[in-house]
Amino acid sequence: MKQALSGLTPEQINKQCLLDKKFIGKQIFSWIQKPVLDFDKMTNISSVLREKLEKKHKILSSRILGHQEDEYGTQKILIELEDKHRIETVLLNDGKDRQTICLSTQAGCAMKCRFCRTGEMGFKRNLTHYEIIEQYLLMAEKFGNISNVVFMGMGEPLLNLPEVRKAVKILHHLDGQNISLRKMTLSTCGIVKGIKEMTQEGPHIRLALSLFSVDQAVRKQFMPCTKKNPLEDLKEALVEYQAVMKREVTLEITMIKSINDSAQAARAILSWIKPLRVNINLIPLNPGPDSELKAPSPESVNSFKSILQGAGFSVSQRFQKGDSISAACGQLASFT
Ligand code: SAH
Repeated sequence: MKQALSGLTPEQINKQCLLDKKFIGKQIFSWIQKPVLDFDKMTNISSVLREKLEKKHKILSSRILGHQEDEYGTQKILIELEDKHRIETVLLNDGKDRQTICLSTQAGCAMKCRFCRTGEMGFKRNLTHYEIIEQYLLMAEKFGNISNVVFMGMGEPLLNLPEVRKAVKILHHLDGQNISLRKMTLSTCGIVKGIKEMTQEGPHIRLALSLFSVDQAVRKQFMPCTKKNPLEDLKEALVEYQAVMKREVTLEITMIKSINDSAQAARAILSWIKPLRVNINLIPLNPGPDSELKAPSPESVNSFKSILQGAGFSVSQRFQKGDSISAACGQLASFT
């Protein structure tokens, strides 16, 4: 099978395509990352070489199978991988000049958070770094400039950290997209070992933790990963990350009616986060089609928010964009 060039650095492209002039690898890399995904359109490369590249190499390994758009301009694409597994990728239109892509890092997910549909698919496999990059390239080719990247799609990125690291390296590359590390965020359900590894070995991008609740029993019930990654160890890993990175951590709280939406739950969070510098992102539940779990009332979200804001924290509420096309948080699933 031909190796896709999508995830290769300029040096690796030189090697892979047996190019003797070093600058050509850089040219091809820059075209692909633009993205120009057709050798024929790489106009500064000789037609003889373009023909040879066309015959022996390919740029992408995956392809778009479907596309949906909602009333806010949220785009969702369904991608088929080379081995026929399917993944989804979302592009959020955050207003003026800002588009954020939500990348998947695994086909399916093994974490089984009770409120998330991706978990219902089960775990298929880790994505390679070039499959992660291709989501970006396919989306950018169709919808133009993307300014921010979040690893918050299907899967648990810290259980596929080596590939995520390689993908970040390509997205950050000077001759390609050159996206700043501050404009990339990885969201985890809370894998202690992975947070420590990220702190020590990178990628040094922003970190978001899906906190959900600071009550160990409640968190364990809804997020089974809590069993092996207790809240106390998570806190310690976050403190370490901040000591090294000197950066605020985002705490995401998926709010479920009568489970973690009370004033008492908000106050418990305040005392838990004391040693940390954080901003807080509230995500009212996007209920699945036959879920008994309900979204919190707007009143309880508001009072939860004011308790946290009253203590001086910056709190944002994730607008439920994408809901009508099942592209909102926790709704990505491709059952085949
Ligand atoms: N595995 C990573 C990233 C994927 S989920 C993680 O757990 O962080 C991205 C965010 O959506 C997480 O904060 C997750 O808790 C939240 N989420 C999942 N399902 C949801 C749902 N049904 N409604 C609202 N938020 C949800």
